[in-house]
Amino acid sequence: RHAAKIKLDGGKEGKNRTKDKSDRATSELVMDDRTRVILYKMIQQNHISGIHGAISTGKEANVYNATLEPEDDDAPPIQRAIKIYKTSILVFKDREKYVTGEHRFNSASKGNNLRKVKQWAEKEFRNLKRLRAAGIPCPEPLLLKSHVLLMEFLGDKRGYAYPKLREATFSQESQEGSENPWRPLYIQLLGLMRKLYQVCKLVHADLSEYNILYHDNKLYIIDVSQSVEHDHPRALEFLRIDIKNVGDFFRRMGVDTLQDRTIFDFIIS
Ligand code: ATP
Ligand code: MN
Repeated sequence: RHAAKIKLDGGKEGKNRTKDKSDRATSELVMDDRTRVILYKMIQQNHISGIHGAISTGKEANVYNATLEPEDDDAPPIQRAIKIYKTSILVFKDREKYVTGEHRFNSASKGNNLRKVKQWAEKEFRNLKRLRAAGIPCPEPLLLKSHVLLMEFLGDKRGYAYPKLREATFSQESQEGSENPWRPLYIQLLGLMRKLYQVCKLVHADLSEYNILYHDNKLYIIDVSQSVEHDHPRALEFLRIDIKNVGDFFRRMGVDTLQDRTIFDFIIS
């Protein structure tokens, strides 16, 4: 199986495409045959019309911006995000601790790499559904094909993704108040973490300012492929780490945070 360079067209050039968009409309993506076939099928079956630049290229996955041409020609393209899990060997060792002890995946947790990445993709798909059902803001999962996840794009109509929490900026208005603008976000996040535990019965297990997006005073939880059931043998250990990472970040932002212990008790009871 050879990696091949392919060009995926960004859809038809409509009159309302800006120059900037047409510049981005065709991108060269390096991916394996299997992934390429999945993407072509998604285009053929009209889930997407084109795939554009990478939003993020990481260790475990790449995330791309895609668009779907709307029925109404005058409407702007519908934005989508596609997360493609990497099937290369290097990323696997780190992941074992999350899957081991997960009853949902025990029977299938041994096997080849593709099988494993498929499991993570499926887990992310299912976990996102659970978050949505509980009303926790996150991307709506739309379609899962093997290790390729199509989801709602969290960003603007032009295809710019919302910033990560760590890159959030605030309007002049909210900065003029005497309150630290990070404080209400901290409170908001504690509520989401509790809901995640109490309603979804999940611990995120990689929660930090990198896996939360921010827009218009609202936080969106992303990257839930490694999240574990609350009865996973290491769930509470992962929860303590999540609490510490979140606390460390908001302390750096000058928020007068609660003690980790207090937050832990708030979340689990
Ligand atoms: P890696 O760990 O290999 O870096 P990852 O598993 O962290 O990949 P994610 O955190 O899910 O992947 O996504 C990486 C980045 O892509 C996010 O930080 C965010 O900026 C962007 N992103 C992910 N999903 C969406 C989405 N639905 N809409 C907009 N942007 C997204
Ligand atoms: Mn991430």
